[in-house]
Order: sequence, then structure tokens, then C-alpha cells
Amino acid sequence: MTIIAPATTQSAKTEPIQQLLETVSLYVHIPFCHTRCHYCDFNTYAGMLPLREPYVRALLSEIGMAGALTKLPGGKPRRSRTIFFGGGTPSLLSVSQVSRILDACYDNFAVDEDAEITLEANPGTLSREQLVGLRAAGVNRLSMGAQSFDAELLKTLGRIHSPKDITQAVRDAQAAGFTSINVDFMFGLPGQTMRHWRETIERALDLHIEHLSLYSLIIEEGTPFYTWTHEGRITPGDEDLCADMYEYADERLHAAGYVNYEISNWSLPGFQSRHNLTYWHNLPYIGMGVGAYSSFGGRRFSNVREPAEYIRMLKAQQWPEVESETVDKAQAMSETAFLALRTAQGLHLPTFEQRFALPFAQFAGDRLHMVEEAGLLERETEWLRLSKRGRLLGNEVFLRLLPD
Ligand code: SF4
Repeated sequence: MTIIAPATTQSAKTEPIQQLLETVSLYVHIPFCHTRCHYCDFNTYAGMLPLREPYVRALLSEIGMAGALTKLPGGKPRRSRTIFFGGGTPSLLSVSQVSRILDACYDNFAVDEDAEITLEANPGTLSREQLVGLRAAGVNRLSMGAQSFDAELLKTLGRIHSPKDITQAVRDAQAAGFTSINVDFMFGLPGQTMRHWRETIERALDLHIEHLSLYSLIIEEGTPFYTWTHEGRITPGDEDLCADMYEYADERLHAAGYVNYEISNWSLPGFQSRHNLTYWHNLPYIGMGVGAYSSFGGRRFSNVREPAEYIRMLKAQQWPEVESETVDKAQAMSETAFLALRTAQGLHLPTFEQRFALPFAQFAGDRLHMVEEAGLLERETEWLRLSKRGRLLGNEVFLRLLPD
């Protein structure tokens, strides 16, 4: 029985689910940013750049510990198919710091020769020389946070780069040999009109990139946007406008050859994010660095959030985990279904049954019939996926489908 990597992924590999469950994807969190964007609630810090080197040293220790924790029963290092540098702004690290982290991953895990190695970058922090260095160090996928091609909107968001920087960074990355590039954009922004959004999508298409992630703005508590929204100083786009923007982008990108393989993600065939598919297929991953989450060995756990405390713990050779929960079988089944239904392919029913020794229909029981009868799900041979209407309702379908 094979599944998981869709036939068109970059690796073009399909592997048995039991084999994939033996692997671990690696996430490395780099929490530094030049300044905080006005909407951001990630675990990131401005004004801490001097901590970069001690933080990298702490990461090297944690990677060693994680390698030991995840070793296979015979003592061999565990196989890893993807490495992802997320943040924060990983492009604030020097090439040699990224190289040392990658070396530690290679020393402690059996990293696939053709592993997908992604680094998130801010277009305002990239130089040509750095991009050439990153490519030579083994990074083979770049993910850039661009958010908009409108200069005024970028200012509103508190981004440090201009529209021109985005184009320049993508051109430089392509010249440096990156053949797999993602760019993130946001919709539903305060003051953003359909005209702004159309222009952003057109300029994004002009970049000839392989992957686009499009997110609607979410106002998170504790951010300047949260305060400004409550004070009436800004008004985010309403639900109808957001739905129109999403639909417009989907149609335009589809016409340009992109496939909407997950709710917020579009790629040219063969360029889906293998790392993110790890999450959507509920496969094991280890997150390293401050605040990083892991899902491994029937547990979900997360690290201490503050860089200084993280560095102190690793100096003392202390495992930086601060929170942990056991994931029981029912929860694992629910989550596997919930995550797979976010993808365009949907849930592969035979794989679900092979993984949990229980057919999905038996697990979901009457709830499945009710949701199917309401026209929110559709079946195609071995696959179960959200119908068009189900996609619009999203979370409500999951709530109706899954046990309490
Ligand atoms: S660059 Fe990214 S991680 Fe850093 S503050 Fe802005 S949105 Fe957050």
C-alpha cells in the first residue's frame, strides 16, 4: 500500500505509510527579526541580534539531543526527509551559521540525499552573495514573506522591505540557482481593495515562482493591529471581500497552471512543500529552537519560549521541553483526518485504515453519513475530500465530523 506524496511532488516518491511513520521531519526555529511587524504574534524578538551566535550554539546542542532521542531501536539515526528553517527571520543568520546547523542535522539524522531543505527569508535582509552561499550550503528551497506588492500596505503592516526588494530578492535567488521558491502574500488587509489584490497577484505571477502561500489577515491579541482595530484606527477586510479575494486568486492561479493543493497553498506541479505535507499528513516531526513544537512517539511537546532561557538550558545540557501531552489513538485518528481534509487530495481511506487498523467509516460512524448527506464531503474511489461547499465551511465540517 502506498500513498502520501502525491504523484506530482518534487520527490515524485510514494512510500508506504509505515515507512513514513519511521521518519522525522526537522524544523529549526530562528526567532530573530529586525523589527516586529504590526500583525505578528509568532515567537520572535526584535533587538536580540547579538544573541544569534550563542543561540546557534544552543541549537547545535539541541540537535544532538534530538538525534539521540529519536534514534531507531538498533541505535541508528532516524531518517529525515525535510529540514525547514522557520522564524522569525532565518535569513538573519550568516551562511556559516546555517551550514553549521545543517552539518549538525546531517551528523545526528540520516538526512535523505534529496531532502527538501527550506529557509524562510525576508526580502529586506537578503544579498546576492548570501543567496549563493545558502544554495552552496545545501538549502534548496526558499520561502519569502512578501505579503503585498503595494508600498502603502507594506508600511501599514510594518514590513521592512519595499515592493522592489521582493522582485530583486526573487531574481537574485533564481540567479543563485534556487529552482523552488515560495512567496507568501496576505489578503483582507486594512485599506486593501480588489485592485490592490489583483495587482499583487499579477506581479507575483510575473516572478515565475513555483509556489505561493496566500493567507487572510488574522488579528491576533497582543499585536499593534489588535489594539488599532479595537480603537477603530484600522479596519481589516470583511468576510465577503476576503472570500472574493480568495476566489479571485484561486481562479487566476489555476489559469496560470498552479494547483491549490492545500487551503492556503498553490504550487506548480511537482513543487508542493514536502515539509508542510508532513504536517498535513500527521507524520512525525521534531521542532528545535525556542517555542518549537514536536510530534513524535505518541507525544506532542514544545520548547521554552525565551531565547535567553533556552540558551541557559542548553548550556547546562538540559532538554528545553516545557510542555507535553500524550496523543491517544482516538486523537491521532481525528487529527489525521482533520489535517488530510485540508488538502485538495483529501483523506486516503485505505491508508487511514492501514495506519490505525480501523476503517474511517467505522471511526466516524453516523457523523460521516450526516456530513456526506449535507453535501459537505465527496468521495472518489479511495479518497474522501471536502466538497466545494465543505471547503467554504471548513472548520464547521471538522467539528461535525469528528468525535468530541
Ligand atoms: S518578519 Fe515575519 S516573523 Fe518577523 S515580525 Fe515580521 S511577520 Fe513576524
